[in-house]
Amino acid sequence: MQSIFYERARDVNHAIELAREPGAKFIGGGTNLLDLYKSGIEKPVRLVDVSRLALSAIEELPDGGLRIGAMASNTAVGTDPLVRRRYRVLSEALLNGATTQLRNMATVGGNLLQRTRCYYFTDPAFARCNKRDPGSGCDAIDGHNRIHAILGASPQCIATHPSDMAVALAALDAVVHLQGADGERQVPLVDFHRLPEDRPDVDTVVKPGELITAVELPLTPFARNSHYLKVRDRASYAFALVSVAVAVDLDGGKLRDLRIALGGVAHKPWRVPDAEAILRGQAPSAELLARAGEAAVAGAQAYAHNGFKVELARRAVVRALQTVIRKAGAEKGTAA
Ligand SMILES: Cc1cc2nc3c(=O)[nH]c(=O)nc-3n(C[C@H](O)[C@H](O)[C@H](O)COP(=O)(O)OP(=O)(O)OC[C@H]3O[C@@H](n4cnc5c(N)ncnc54)[C@H](O)[C@@H]3O)c2cc1C
Ligand code: SF4
Repeated sequence: MQSIFYERARDVNHAIELAREPGAKFIGGGTNLLDLYKSGIEKPVRLVDVSRLALSAIEELPDGGLRIGAMASNTAVGTDPLVRRRYRVLSEALLNGATTQLRNMATVGGNLLQRTRCYYFTDPAFARCNKRDPGSGCDAIDGHNRIHAILGASPQCIATHPSDMAVALAALDAVVHLQGADGERQVPLVDFHRLPEDRPDVDTVVKPGELITAVELPLTPFARNSHYLKVRDRASYAFALVSVAVAVDLDGGKLRDLRIALGGVAHKPWRVPDAEAILRGQAPSAELLARAGEAAVAGAQAYAHNGFKVELARRAVVRALQTVIRKAGAEKGTAA
């Protein structure tokens, strides 16, 4: 294990200044970074502790949206009364992730930037991993690939993004706020994570030294009627094999608007606009839900051990939609 410098940032500008040093990395809760450091996969020279920055507020915006500070813990967001009431899918996704102890430590910023990965990546005993060691190959493609991607993979990497929270954010039209030496910018969540293509070592569009400062959620008519379905090997403390975040605006029996995003199937949260288009403006019949499920997995490519995910994802989309539509119908007219 190599030695590292540790420094706690006083404020955002100080954090960005410290992060200019080559090899510097921000540390939030440390639940992903320190795991990877201990196994020699991440090799930071300097840790810039951003966990105490004044960026943990969860506040309603004047236009009715919500601003979530990047240092808010996964527990704080998942249990926030406004999040539970207006963005239920986000609360459900967060509280279905990891364990209580991990959620207490994990931050919003760190959750978004946890590595897209698979068990071959996290175990240096396996030599071939293009994400860890570009150009070395991929042990998963011909190996045990039960948890791996069925959509958007490349011959270079078939890992999936592990975050539950990010899938919910993809269904809520969330926007990520970043600040770096060149100023501030905003990136829609759906464009924040990358597909592997020929650079699987690069997970996101974040530039070196950029700090996530917040995530903003617009006030939309579909966010309130939302649901997260996570399918996994154990009832808790397990990553999703497949997950679905759905949000619907049900008006007079018709789906005026909706969002569907999948997790556990791709290198990034996977929005499915073609499936949404089948249902938009329609009364949701069993036949239409089935067609949306089919559309959600269109183009899926399975490997030796993960073929079950295609059918699982198709059914999970239908089940999640049935659940949210039933709830939205039952709860229509309840107070804010
Ligand atoms: C055993 C286990 C089980 C888990 N199960 C689940 C699960 O079921 N579902 C799920 O979604 N997740 C799961 N996780 C992942 C967990 O949610 C993440 O490890 C956690 O969210 C990371 O947040 P953190 O603040 O600890 O990040 P850190 O480990 O501190 O940082 C992660 C990365 O983000 C960078 N970073 C941190 N904050 C910022 C910032 N503000 N701006 C820019 N860069 C930043 C760091 O430099 C680092 O590269 C699990 C983790 C473990 C260890
Ligand atoms: S799937 Fe990606 S992360 Fe896993 S071994 Fe292959 S290159 Fe590495």
